[in-house]
Amino acid sequence: MKKPFVTKELIEKISQEIPTPFHIYDEKGIRENARALLKAFSWNKGFKEYFAVKATPNPFILKILQEEGCGTDCSSYTELLMSDACGFHGHDIMFSSNVTPAQDFKLADKLGVIINLDDFTHIDFLEKTIGHIPETICCRYNPGGLFKIENQIMDTPGEAKYGFTHDQLIEGYKLLMKKGAKNFGLHAFLASNTVANEYYPVLAKTLFETAVEIKEKTGANIKFINLSGGVGVNYRPEQAPNDIAVIGEGVRKVFEEIMIPNGLGDCAIFTELGRYMLAPYGHLIAKVLHEKHTHKEYIGLDACACNLMRPAMYGAYHHITVLGKENEPCDHKYDVTGGLCENNDKFAIDRMLPKIDIGDYICIHDTGAHGFAMGYNYNGKLRSAEVLLKEDGTYQLIRRAETPKDYFATFDFTDFFEK
Ligand SMILES: *Cc1c(COP(=O)(O)O)cnc(C)c1O
Repeated sequence: MKKPFVTKELIEKISQEIPTPFHIYDEKGIRENARALLKAFSWNKGFKEYFAVKATPNPFILKILQEEGCGTDCSSYTELLMSDACGFHGHDIMFSSNVTPAQDFKLADKLGVIINLDDFTHIDFLEKTIGHIPETICCRYNPGGLFKIENQIMDTPGEAKYGFTHDQLIEGYKLLMKKGAKNFGLHAFLASNTVANEYYPVLAKTLFETAVEIKEKTGANIKFINLSGGVGVNYRPEQAPNDIAVIGEGVRKVFEEIMIPNGLGDCAIFTELGRYMLAPYGHLIAKVLHEKHTHKEYIGLDACACNLMRPAMYGAYHHITVLGKENEPCDHKYDVTGGLCENNDKFAIDRMLPKIDIGDYICIHDTGAHGFAMGYNYNGKLRSAEVLLKEDGTYQLIRRAETPKDYFATFDFTDFFEK
């Protein structure tokens, strides 16, 4: 059973001031989850979570995570700007980009963040762009092939555009040392949205063994291993969620087996979780505008794929609760849609739900990460507001909804009207 962290009464109250649709975030849940992550890895002295900004790029959310001891992981120029504006500085920021424009490397260097290189040729490109190689630097590894856990294929790194190959990695550390780098990190992201407590430990084993090999072959001083993102959430109610305490313990075991005997016991563990940190602590709240009875039963919402792209893009499952009807039987079969001129604009297909009426509030679960963030303006739809449900039960608008003025802001109409 998935239970919303909001009630119909609360949403009725909020929507008088902030019209639907909006994304709402649960501060209490975010904080408790962040604390559980830190506790699970507290055995590692240098442990740090660098929250993947791209998952939920909102300064208020970043501030909450900062108070819980997290840094940020940025993928672009504007995410670097946002992190800087929120008071993340220097090594509290990781910059994990790919196809990186020169101006992004320049800003990353100016802010003194940890740069994670995605490609061997970026070593020369970075040096040419900023005039030197930073003392602390990280490389992203892609071993290729399939990523398996006990013969089950989790993902296909061999098809992924990211990272250095094994041989490029060894040559890369040698070259970086020659160019003056002193402290090294190793990073890999090999499977996405895993709901298996073994993902991090299996990934850690690969990275730890590779770190030992790098140390032996190049003499590079490996200071940190970045397990990146990929720890997922149980979008479906029948799935068992990850257990972060078990995951932390699994990584500790591998660390003790491989790192400590090889003189790498001081190495810090970093994570760059996005989804795991935020997804369950966000809901997309929408109102039912329309019912349609044709070849199927349709329920039309005031939200659309522009507010949550995952179902349209990946066919992703997002659980739905009809607020105020939590205890009613799910005896109606609906397609729950938005209003885009795109037939894949469906939040759910053939979903069993209680009888829905126009005006009902719909809670779409697990939208706290890669939800608002993947929003877009197709069909002239506007981005929604974001609301924070605070620990004391009050709420705060943390991003206003777009208005038509925002939508038109990138046009210059001056000439148009003068002619
Ligand atoms: C997207 C991304 C993350 C976060 O991934 P999640 O699946 O949200 O945890 C972390 N690191 C990098 C480099 C990414 O691209």
